[in-house]
Amino acid sequence: MTSPDVAETLGSAPASAPVRAAPLVEFRAVTKVYGQGAAAMRALDGVDLSIQAGEFVAVMGPSGSGKSTAMNILGCLDTPSSGSYRFQGVPVEGLSRDQRALLRRNYLGFVFQGFNLLNRTSALENVELPLVYRRTPRAERHAQARRALAQVGLTGWEHHTPGELSGGQQQRVAIARAIVTGPSLLLADEPTGNLDSARSHEIMDLLTGLNRERGITVLMVTHEPDMAAYAGRVIHFLDGRVADDGLAGRSQGQGGQT
Ligand code: ADP
Repeated sequence: MTSPDVAETLGSAPASAPVRAAPLVEFRAVTKVYGQGAAAMRALDGVDLSIQAGEFVAVMGPSGSGKSTAMNILGCLDTPSSGSYRFQGVPVEGLSRDQRALLRRNYLGFVFQGFNLLNRTSALENVELPLVYRRTPRAERHAQARRALAQVGLTGWEHHTPGELSGGQQQRVAIARAIVTGPSLLLADEPTGNLDSARSHEIMDLLTGLNRERGITVLMVTHEPDMAAYAGRVIHFLDGRVADDGLAGRSQGQGGQT
């Protein structure tokens, strides 16, 4: 499953080989300043970052180091004060609001610590929601949502509401909702933050499977080294900068010995 070329979808530039060869996401000297004058706060301070399609990346760092700011920019929910954010080579700051929304809807999936499900609504309807925004016809919507729920191991739970599901199951519904549109990039903000250890590892196994088997690029903020160990690469933020960017240990199947 590959998404169409972003430049084609957004109508922003002719599709070309160099764009195809670009990293999936790239920050070039991205700075984000909040406030003005003496109160100005550099949440991001000249960050260079490039992530290739197919990577599984964990983002770590102390509170206030700029992780959420970076995720908001990556998710096209915010824009840099200066520098450039490129998605498949396309500068996002050059896109209109509508084009950014289109990019979000077609290429990105979001998973949050708090699941963010609609409480009185069945698992199936929660997963269908992004397809409603896309105006996918009803029958197709049902079929795609059922398939996504099957992919996260929730066949048989389609008609349960979040209140009838465990925390781990709720996060599976949220992951199904994030992947139902076939995104290139899954942005996960502390996806195991509300789960016990066993459930956390199940969710990480699920994310690892989506990364390896479906080729979805995963970028996950976590405070837990155990969870970061599932990633092939761990980026540490400190004071709005990338302090360390390296390969993680155990799950890449390359021996893990140093
Ligand atoms: P993290 O996610 O690593 O905890 P953030 O990206 O939330 O870090 O924050 C980085 C810095 O930017 C912090 O000092 C924070 O107080 C500041 N900051 C974040 N968002 C805002 C905002 N909307 N207005 C002002 N300052 C902000």
